Amino acid sequence: MNPAQLLLDFGKSVLSRFVDSPPNPSAASAATPVRGVQRDIPLEELSHRLLEGVGWDNPKVRVQWNARLRTTAGLACWTSRTISLNPRLMEISAAEVQRTLRHELAHFLAQSRAGRRRIAAHGPEWRQACCDLDIPRESRCHDLPFGGSRRKPKHFYACPKCGTTLKRVRPIRRSLACLNCCRVHSRGHYDARFRFLPVAAPEPHPAAA
Ligand SMILES: [Zn+2]
Ligand SMILES: [Zn+2]
Repeated sequence: MNPAQLLLDFGKSVLSRFVDSPPNPSAASAATPVRGVQRDIPLEELSHRLLEGVGWDNPKVRVQWNARLRTTAGLACWTSRTISLNPRLMEISAAEVQRTLRHELAHFLAQSRAGRRRIAAHGPEWRQACCDLDIPRESRCHDLPFGGSRRKPKHFYACPKCGTTLKRVRPIRRSLACLNCCRVHSRGHYDARFRFLPVAAPEPHPAAA
């Protein structure tokens, strides 16, 4: 199979998931929704082609969609040579799928070039690999603003001294004291008097209701 053929096949495999998708990305549903973990052979073949194109002999990587990823766009596990992609990328665009795949492949390329040397995840080796894989302006951020996926805080706390509030998705487990009050009243040292205490959820502002 020649590279052009491969790209064509890849294009088809992605496009088939966009058939009849509504234009509004947040309302879009893929033609074949991914449940759990699903391997993507055309993306694996494309990955091998891309890596061979930058001088990696006989690369072997696994590419899979993982419906359990929340706001993470993609993950690269070097030990298992596995790239996991968030199926919600397909709801954004084929270009976003491509960009994220290359971002993750750049992690593999950087690590394979470094050998046993430990490198920073998004350090100079990775940036060089991004340039080689044609995403020179790639940022380190994996998070995408997936609509509606942000979890709302359900736990609210307030400093008993100054009233500073804190909201959290998960309850705080350790004792946490108000930094401002500890600075002002106990020279920056932890002071149990200023521990955040649980409070009820604040009432919605009338203007926002
Ligand atoms: Zn990364
Ligand atoms: Zn305080």
